[in-house]
Amino acid sequence: MSFYLPESVDCNGELFKVFITKEQIDARIELLGKKLDKDFEDKHPIFIGILNGAFIFLADLMRSVTIPCEVDFMKLSSYGDEKVSSGQVTELKEIDAKVKGRHVILVEDIVDTGLSMKYMVEKMKKHNPASVSVITLLHKKEATKHDVQVDYVGFEIPTKFVLGYGLDYAQEGRNLAQIYALHEEE
Ligand code: 5GP
Repeated sequence: MSFYLPESVDCNGELFKVFITKEQIDARIELLGKKLDKDFEDKHPIFIGILNGAFIFLADLMRSVTIPCEVDFMKLSSYGDEKVSSGQVTELKEIDAKVKGRHVILVEDIVDTGLSMKYMVEKMKKHNPASVSVITLLHKKEATKHDVQVDYVGFEIPTKFVLGYGLDYAQEGRNLAQIYALHEEE
């Protein structure tokens, strides 16, 4: 399979430049998969992807682990069509899986303020799972103001607006195979 890997893209009238390459993403996910294989051996975890943004990361992450595992999805919305968080979490789809007594791995594309992940972890704990772990592809550590659990991180990034590999800008750009950052004039 070949991928479209431009150096820069225009998305909804804004210029984005490549920030994390496909090669870097692939290498990091391979390492994360190995770590999860070890940490969850014999635990039969259930990955819960947070839609929409996490769908590509989750697909690649699941294929990088070799242990038996399951998958389900939740859908949240906090950005709408903007480049800054609305500050409110709206739940658009509940999980179908029974998580009581199970080892749950919440899979997020990006932790920004931490609001969505804090909401998810608290919600998940009410289902009495055996454990709740959090993995995010990207973490804007400096922007995180909520006290949130993050167990596995793909890349720590500065407070920039990013696009691609599942992340959108006004619903576009999710299909880009690399991660791009909004170009800001100096
Ligand atoms: P938080 O609740 O941590 O502030 O934000 C989490 C959600 O906001 C992510 O799941 C993602 O949908 C969205 N988000 C945060 N930062 C970015 C970004 O730089 N780019 C895009 N496309 N979405 C972001």
